[in-house]
Amino acid sequence: MTPIAQNIAAIKAQLPAGVELVAVSKFHPVEALMEAYDAGQRIFGENRAQELAAKAPQMPADVQWHFIGHLQTNKVRLAVQHATMIQSVDSARLLALISKEAVKLGRTVDVLLQLHVAQEEAKTGFSVEELLAALTVEELQGLPGVRIRGMMAMASLTDDRQQIAREFALVKSTFDLVREEFFADEPAFDTLSMGMSDDWPIAVEHGSTHVRIGTAIFGPRQY
Ligand SMILES: *Cc1c(COP(=O)(O)O)cnc(C)c1O
Repeated sequence: MTPIAQNIAAIKAQLPAGVELVAVSKFHPVEALMEAYDAGQRIFGENRAQELAAKAPQMPADVQWHFIGHLQTNKVRLAVQHATMIQSVDSARLLALISKEAVKLGRTVDVLLQLHVAQEEAKTGFSVEELLAALTVEELQGLPGVRIRGMMAMASLTDDRQQIAREFALVKSTFDLVREEFFADEPAFDTLSMGMSDDWPIAVEHGSTHVRIGTAIFGPRQY
């Protein structure tokens, strides 16, 4: 087994059944992704549209690409062309643009609404209040070409495990509330993406269905 295959096997052995592993492959070469693919990995996460567009044609067609970065307006088309899921929808305007491009391309894209719960200002996403307000005025629902599958979030970058646990608990309770209030009739609203290399076990304890793991699979990124 290659080191990448070993890392994937070790993580999968600890993941509860039903929790999906998104291998975050940003900044890593296609050779590394192929090692993961050969180990059975099929879902890959990228955070830059151009990098995604460059890698996608070089990988087998059954790879599912999840876009996980802040998506700029002028990159929406590229992301929609290549991603099966856009996890990082952080505004109603962005969702409308994704819908428009998806319709043009004759596609339906799965999306997650990104919630901002971390202390860092730089992280993007809806606040809880903003998200509930947008859903209440039905700014996000009913758009063609997009299917809202759930929510994504990142915890603060901190060693304080209690704080991370509090943030993931807030995401989970918001997810449950949103599902109950706004998506009760939509069984496809089933995805809660949270947890990265350093905090994924805490995320899984709090109901994550998709962990996004880069460093613990591929090693440090070469920027
Ligand atoms: C880079 C990234 C990850 C993976 O981070 P690691 O610490 O390398 O596991 C997960 N989620 C998002 C949104 C990212 O940008």
